[in-house]
Amino acid sequence: MFVSLFLVLMGYIVYFNVVEAKNIINSPYNRRQDLFADRVVRGKILDKDGEVLAETEVDEDGNETRNYPQDDLFAHVLGYSVKGKAGLESVENFNLLTSNAFILEKIVNEFQGKKNIGDNVVTTLDTDLQQAAYDALGDHKGAVVVMEASTGKILSMVSKPTYDPNSVSEDWTKLNTDEDSALLNRATQGKYAPGSTFKLVTTLAFMRQNSNYESYSYDCSSEIEHDGTTIHCSGDVAHGKEDLRLSVANSCNTSFSNIGLSLNIKKYRETAKELLFNSELPSPLMYGESKFVLSEKDSDAELMMTSIGQGKTQVSPYHMALITSAIANGGKLMKPYLVDRITNYSGTTVTKNMPEEYKQLMTSEEASKLTEYMEAVVEEGTAKALRGQNYTVAGKTGTAEYSIDKTKTHSWFVGFTNVDNPDLVISVVVEGADTSGVRAVNVAKKILNSYY
Ligand SMILES: [Zn+2]
Repeated sequence: MFVSLFLVLMGYIVYFNVVEAKNIINSPYNRRQDLFADRVVRGKILDKDGEVLAETEVDEDGNETRNYPQDDLFAHVLGYSVKGKAGLESVENFNLLTSNAFILEKIVNEFQGKKNIGDNVVTTLDTDLQQAAYDALGDHKGAVVVMEASTGKILSMVSKPTYDPNSVSEDWTKLNTDEDSALLNRATQGKYAPGSTFKLVTTLAFMRQNSNYESYSYDCSSEIEHDGTTIHCSGDVAHGKEDLRLSVANSCNTSFSNIGLSLNIKKYRETAKELLFNSELPSPLMYGESKFVLSEKDSDAELMMTSIGQGKTQVSPYHMALITSAIANGGKLMKPYLVDRITNYSGTTVTKNMPEEYKQLMTSEEASKLTEYMEAVVEEGTAKALRGQNYTVAGKTGTAEYSIDKTKTHSWFVGFTNVDNPDLVISVVVEGADTSGVRAVNVAKKILNSYY
């Protein structure tokens, strides 16, 4: 018994050191980290080209001030380091308060009682793209995520309304009572009905459950009535005869309600699970878990609503970006990351992150079929606004109703560029699109035009 208890104890110590140690030392609840701040000046956070996004200034009396030269541009992704921590300031706290300055210099500092200078966090963020996303969203509430499908690099993440990280201390009470929830990172923590962007998930479920999906045919008369519920196509348009491709391109609610009714719910839920609903997401930042709660007990009405992205399903713009990334990358989701490398303060690389596969979310055949349908959305469907640019796009639009009377809506767009050799993945949500008339597809277009 003694030997086995001893082995269990050793096993735990090894596990703790190999697996848990970094998480615990990095945890924002670990007060030991704050002791580092007595010995190290917090390092800088830089964009991918070395532009300073956050830095600590030390005055003659040794008082330190954290400055964010870009003001509110990167607010949610950088976070803050006063009044608790958020964003990169939180998850990279340990690196920012660790100094890999040259050893002799550290010894000299030690003798002189001077602080060492912390390491720099060089991110994958692209300032020009961030500015374009920030400008395109304007004063509207919502979020934008831009990623690179082939590597998993997060290039831009904007959430509006935003706040000025330079004055978080002063504004704290206001920010925490503000009904717009400006501190919330809507990109990763926002929970929205996916609207028609969810038809990509429904399409995949249908493809998996029907090997002859390409011979699917439906005649849309602009509405479908079943189980006491009537579902209309947007603008009461009758789309006429459609196959699966055209159903996606037209974002036909009646055809997708019909598709939904034919689905095996258990398998539908499995497909959603494989696309990371009700699951942990790979994420460098705090995020809200997506929900897909449809069950066999639900009514047919609920099934129809769920198939068109209404119902009880909830998702963040970030999660939709991950699904789109997998489609763009032959079904393979790369592990998303925000930190390219850690350098010491003079620029010598300490650690470098490389692209890493996270999971194959679907087969490459499924991914290329969904791509073909998403191209049709741009070529002849609901995202024609993106046709004929100097870059190609495959995408899906969405309108998510969020009031009982179905008049209040959020607008969605997810897609990727340079379809033959995918480049950028973009996910956009614009809240309250019913009053502003701003469509997410047009926000995406502004960002992409500015980038290309
Ligand atoms: Zn229709």
